[in-house]
Amino acid sequence: IHPVYAQMERTVFDRMSALARETGAINLGQGFPDGPGPAPVIEAAVRALREKSNQYPPGAGLPELREAVCTYYARRQALEVSPQDVTVTSGATEAIAASLLALVKPGDEVVLFQPAYDAYAPMVLRAGGVPVSVPLKPPRFRYETSAIEEALTERTRLLILNDPLNPAGTVAGEEELAAIARICVDRDLVAICDEVWEEVRFDGQPHRSLMSFEGMAERCVKIGSAGKIFGVTGWKIGWMVGRGEVGHGLVHAHQFLTYASAPPLQWAVAEGLTLPVAMLDEQRAAWAASRARLMAGLDRAGFIVLPNRATWFLCVDLTASGLHTGDREFAERAIREAGVATIPVSALYAGEGRPEHIVRFCFTKPDAVLDEAVARLAAFR
Ligand code: GLN
Repeated sequence: IHPVYAQMERTVFDRMSALARETGAINLGQGFPDGPGPAPVIEAAVRALREKSNQYPPGAGLPELREAVCTYYARRQALEVSPQDVTVTSGATEAIAASLLALVKPGDEVVLFQPAYDAYAPMVLRAGGVPVSVPLKPPRFRYETSAIEEALTERTRLLILNDPLNPAGTVAGEEELAAIARICVDRDLVAICDEVWEEVRFDGQPHRSLMSFEGMAERCVKIGSAGKIFGVTGWKIGWMVGRGEVGHGLVHAHQFLTYASAPPLQWAVAEGLTLPVAMLDEQRAAWAASRARLMAGLDRAGFIVLPNRATWFLCVDLTASGLHTGDREFAERAIREAGVATIPVSALYAGEGRPEHIVRFCFTKPDAVLDEAVARLAAFR
């Protein structure tokens, strides 16, 4: 087998979910809401299964969905995107794989900010590239221009920016984004912008894409996810937006990866993206209430929660909470002894110098589940 996979373990998300199923633990590890998803979107999928086609859709995606993605970005982010620049994928993970396969040439260096979704580095390697890591320091996880510039060489071609940032739940500031955009333009880099959390913000601010900065429209791949927007993670419907030559690379990489994704789900997502935003506001309000509930519960139980504005996650600083165990050990013991699954954040860092005192909790769960998890954690710590 390829050396990238030789020593590889299953992802921390898969392992934690499997362990939670095995032990019957409450799963606050892998990020997914417990609810079914917004009723109008689910109903649209049921209707599409009965009334629309269940055969191969166009490889780049249903025209209705590609159009809906553009309408949605125009409405929510004042971004001008054309349907021909949108390729529908089987989730954002496929979009990341397709982008890297399309854009990385042998020996190209790809800047990855740490912590990073664990799919990035292996995909960079498998595409023949070299991951170069730029660590972001807790608790603020800020993008420092000097640290980025130090990581660049004449072989750097790409960077991957996940904003809002999973697992931290932080959001890059306007000046940070402007600085990253400037570096991309000056150094002729392409940015893969994993913006799957664009709709999951709790600070009342609209999402601002790196793609909207000067000179970036042609050098960005913007990745989105219906799983995150509507809370239907198992649907695996995502998309990537890229213009010109970049877009050409994306759609052709996608055509021999998965070719196409389930059309009834594409219909439903297209419909969801064009429904009044009140539906998204209502869903966000429900997530915000769960977020506040877990935050208050963790606080009462003596856990220090890091500052956070987005995503479905809260991060706890174990050291600041007076716990002197590593995050992996904490996660292992919490699942077996307290019956609560979490994600140790060090699993999302590569290389030395990683923080080992932060644990991530997913809060998109019913009140009773969150309360029980907090009670268990309070008794355990
Ligand atoms: N992004 C998800 C999370 O952070 C995991 C995705 C996956 O497991 N493929 O929980």
